Amino acid sequence: MKNIIFIAPPAAGKGTQSDLLKQKYSVVHISTGDLLRNEVASNSEIGNHVQKLMNDGLLVDDEIVFKLLEQRLVKQDCDDGYILDGFPRDLEQAKAYDEISSRLHRKIDCAIFLNISKEDAMKRITGRISCPKCGAVYNEYFDTFTKLGLCNRCSTKLEKRSDDNEEIFNHRFDTYLIKTQPVIDYYRDKGILHVVDSGGSKEYTFCQIESIIGGEVK
Ligand code: AMP
Repeated sequence: MKNIIFIAPPAAGKGTQSDLLKQKYSVVHISTGDLLRNEVASNSEIGNHVQKLMNDGLLVDDEIVFKLLEQRLVKQDCDDGYILDGFPRDLEQAKAYDEISSRLHRKIDCAIFLNISKEDAMKRITGRISCPKCGAVYNEYFDTFTKLGLCNRCSTKLEKRSDDNEEIFNHRFDTYLIKTQPVIDYYRDKGILHVVDSGGSKEYTFCQIESIIGGEVK
């Protein structure tokens, strides 16, 4: 498989779609949000700093994000391709990644933009719960559960993210509009951008993604 990035506003389904790809094709999934949440969970000094920014819906300093990302990208399992989710968040990160990609031989082959309206994304955010162990993402209003409050896959207690509320969502969406949207044009100009309608069911979104990467997965 090739190296793919997902670009999307919050709650567009990056995590859900990455998880579906991981389940079906065993691809490596790298989420900068998850890398940062792991840092927060470690209770380090950096983790405490990161938590404050994440709780306010602000972007974390590039220095921290790049350090964690590079540590992950050098691992051998990335040699066969990976999905990068939540990165790049702005044009500076996109350009800086180009430098990393030539140094680490981790070139991006395909950028998938998950397009969703703010209204549809807002509807999803309030019900989102996820599994801290296996990464499965659910919506407490739309999904059915074998045991209430537990992950259908691994029975771990499901958690709500502290930044999944209406006020922080508005902030994160505005940050996306200002900072992340120029990244879409950046990859369009490189000729590797694909646009997917992510406002419908997760199955429909997945179907569109599979048709884009169909030739790339093993
Ligand atoms: P996500 O899990 O992608 O929704 O990201 C959750 C939060 O992590 C964001 O609101 C940011 O605070 C932070 N974050 C994730 N990825 C990045 C990134 N590439 N650059 C800066 N901050 C990030």
